[in-house]
Amino acid sequence: LKNFPYKRVLVLGLAKSGTATCKVLNDNQIEVVATDLQADPNSPDLLELKDRGIELYIGSHPDHLLETCDLVVKNPGIPYHVPFVQSILERDIPIWTEIECLYYLIEQPVLAITGSNGKTTTSTLAHDILIKSKQDAQLAGNIGQVAIEVAQHLEKDQSLVLELSSFQLMGINQFKPKVSILLNLFESHLDYHGDFDNYRAAKAAIFKNQTTNDYLVYNADDKRVKALAENALSRKIPFSRKEKLENGVWMNDHTIFYRSEPIIDKDQIRLVGDHNLENVLASIAATLMMGATKEGIQASLTSFNGVTYRLQFIRELNNRLFYNDSKATNSFATSKALSAFDQPIRLIAGGLDRGNGFDELIPYLDNVEGIYLYGETKDKLASTAQKANIQTIKTGEDLVEMTHKAYNDSNQGDVILLSPACASWDQFKTFEDRGDMFSNVVHTLL
Ligand code: ADP
Repeated sequence: LKNFPYKRVLVLGLAKSGTATCKVLNDNQIEVVATDLQADPNSPDLLELKDRGIELYIGSHPDHLLETCDLVVKNPGIPYHVPFVQSILERDIPIWTEIECLYYLIEQPVLAITGSNGKTTTSTLAHDILIKSKQDAQLAGNIGQVAIEVAQHLEKDQSLVLELSSFQLMGINQFKPKVSILLNLFESHLDYHGDFDNYRAAKAAIFKNQTTNDYLVYNADDKRVKALAENALSRKIPFSRKEKLENGVWMNDHTIFYRSEPIIDKDQIRLVGDHNLENVLASIAATLMMGATKEGIQASLTSFNGVTYRLQFIRELNNRLFYNDSKATNSFATSKALSAFDQPIRLIAGGLDRGNGFDELIPYLDNVEGIYLYGETKDKLASTAQKANIQTIKTGEDLVEMTHKAYNDSNQGDVILLSPACASWDQFKTFEDRGDMFSNVVHTLL
């Protein structure tokens, strides 16, 4: 940590990012105390912190801790309205997230991605493009690996791709990516941020410290994003699915361009769906600014099948294409998946009953030749399917049975899609388990 301005830091929340932060600060001879309401004091991680001499307060957040600390590093998931955080704010003690510590930890180039939707896909794809461009890039952040932990071990010639949530971005002060991406802005997480203005401000923090040496990649088709980007000092690289851009990444019916240079033909891209095209354009723009090559972009996009469980291509079998969209736990996500295909679809759906109906799917069911339903919601979904005049409507006990039925009914050229429109908890622990089961069954089909 270079020129770290604080001497005694309180780490609030001892999940993965909190414990990693404690270790990094401690490695750098900064005094650390830490508190968590629920952590297990006997877990190996916490025992290691104790061994290092870090004072731990588990089960409550004693107010007296605030008398001696000059900085708090907060877990992004802890909302600002809880009384202890309010006390911190009243005392004017700065509240960071682990992401701000990166500013003092690394000088390597960072590509940071935020937006309401598409962060994981774009981060994963951008990382893949850099790797295929023969760069040694690491991937971390909201997506899985803890950012500060990866940053701590980052080598000189490596770069870092970071997926950042608005919660993480609330806690930055000087952190500045070399390249930032702002994908889109929808109303979400308003319970945490209070109102849309705060949420938008958190997202905009991704470029607030950028200067004319840094790049902001932004979605020119999203009015709110475009308006925000106008205030940035960064060099701006817009992307658009709809209009030709002199200075950005755009597309016509066949080809994607950067400025006037063709980058890749659209039919070579394996990812499906208009929303994913936006993620593709953003990834191309950002990785070009990170020094990616056209060959690297092409190698990545011709092989990248999508992020696991998110409209992920699984296999082609006897001229049928199988896609796994187990992450789609509501009708909105399923409508996106259905819109991604022109081919006839056999849709496998159903799961936990949350009390809602599914008729909002009707406008998206035109291409659906057959629907295969299981789980608590199967009858509700069947009634929606009848209203949409779907030819084949089948219900059954479980995902395995319905996958077999869908395949048996299918014709050459069909897409067989798991996009359940429901949470998985009636029959599975997680949507990951559900997706794994689907992939496994699909791989056993002959
Ligand atoms: P995040 O990490 O922001 O949650 P993901 O990449 O995991 O985003 O995608 C989650 C879901 O959001 C996808 O299944 C899809 O329905 C939707 N989505 C993905 N990219 C976009 C986009 N660019 N615009 C709108 N919706 C998107």
